Amino acid sequence: MTSRRIRQVRLETLQRRVLAAVRPVGTESILIERSRGRILAETIRATAPSPAMDKSVMDGFAVRHADLTDAAANHPVSLRIDGTIPAGHSRSRPVSRGTAVRIMTGAPLPPKADCVVKVEDTSEADGMVRFTKPATRRQNVLRRGTNMRKGQIILRSGTTIAPAHMAMLAFLDQRRVTVYRRPKVGILTTGDELGEVGRRHPAGHVPDSNRYGLIGLIESTGCEPVDGGRCADLPEQLERALGSLARRCGFIVSTGGVSAGDYDVVKILFRQKGGVDLFRLPMKPGKPQAFGHVRGTPFFGLPGNPVSCMVVFDVVIRPALRKLAGSRETSPVGWPAVAAADFSRKSRQWEFPRVRAAEQDGQWSVWPVRSQRSSDLTSMTDADGYVILTPSSAAPKTGDTVRFVPFVV
Ligand code: AMP
Ligand code: MG
Repeated sequence: MTSRRIRQVRLETLQRRVLAAVRPVGTESILIERSRGRILAETIRATAPSPAMDKSVMDGFAVRHADLTDAAANHPVSLRIDGTIPAGHSRSRPVSRGTAVRIMTGAPLPPKADCVVKVEDTSEADGMVRFTKPATRRQNVLRRGTNMRKGQIILRSGTTIAPAHMAMLAFLDQRRVTVYRRPKVGILTTGDELGEVGRRHPAGHVPDSNRYGLIGLIESTGCEPVDGGRCADLPEQLERALGSLARRCGFIVSTGGVSAGDYDVVKILFRQKGGVDLFRLPMKPGKPQAFGHVRGTPFFGLPGNPVSCMVVFDVVIRPALRKLAGSRETSPVGWPAVAAADFSRKSRQWEFPRVRAAEQDGQWSVWPVRSQRSSDLTSMTDADGYVILTPSSAAPKTGDTVRFVPFVV
């Protein structure tokens, strides 16, 4: 039996290590209507120019601009109306000199027409249409290939599919799309004091709330949570449960049992067994953490305190699970905001105080929620996100600029 020490590690180092431990798990083909939120695993190119032909962007008249050179308010030019092209129709007969073809928005221009005059700028009588000003070549014409060139890259692999991407795939006549498989992420909660949600809890017991927070967090990364159950503070039980998850999952998270207490089961198991390092990070909340591999599967031991568990997940695990899910964007989305109240901080470590946020006239303000205790879930539910304070930054004062990271829904 080897005794392993709890190591000090920098947050950036651990983030890098966890990120480096994962890669996407393969691809599958799905119907585009099922693709929202999935991550694209192919490069999508335009198979043809768009529009495929020069098109009118107005209801009006397709003409040769040379026919209207002399048109003026005091010298109108009249052209004979030679047919109509509704949207969805086209015609191969060219527009002859001295004539105009009625055309609807979206319809392809007839041969020899080089511009469209909108209907509001014309008047009609007896099969003739009158123009009172000249037209310029290509006016009101969307030229072939303006929106997309043939072969142009339209969507890149690693893009999270949003409604606009679904519309684009359909526009490109693609019924199916290749996406990364949703990786399975195992959840294991530890603690003799944990009880099933909705049951009676004896004194000293609490509902296993972390499990449900983690289900939500894992889903929000595009991965699929796998429930590995609750584990008592018994190393053998933890080892069995982890082994079973390792076979089924691409990543495993646990909560609890990583700090300095006598019954900290993750710590006890891996001190004996190895393969997983126990860390102390200069961060608040969430100092104690564990990371390593269990039978080849990356395993992260989160702290048990409900707020620590969720914040550490966001800061350290979320980027890795986004990568595991195939995403190209793994950094947290955040933006500058102005502190609308003073923040207090006692320590020189990474801090992630939970804040409310509001936008007014393009300016974001944030202020700390009432409770910043890592055991108090209202610190999360009262907040819109958190602020990142690096070890070297001073406590922000009202009016200072800070970086705000919203919670992912
Ligand atoms: P631990 O890190 O195991 O010492 O747990 C720290 C604190 O978090 C204790 O008060 C636990 O009761 C609480 N805790 C641990 N796991 C959970 C859980 N799954 N759900 C809710 N609270 C938890
Ligand atoms: Mg515990």
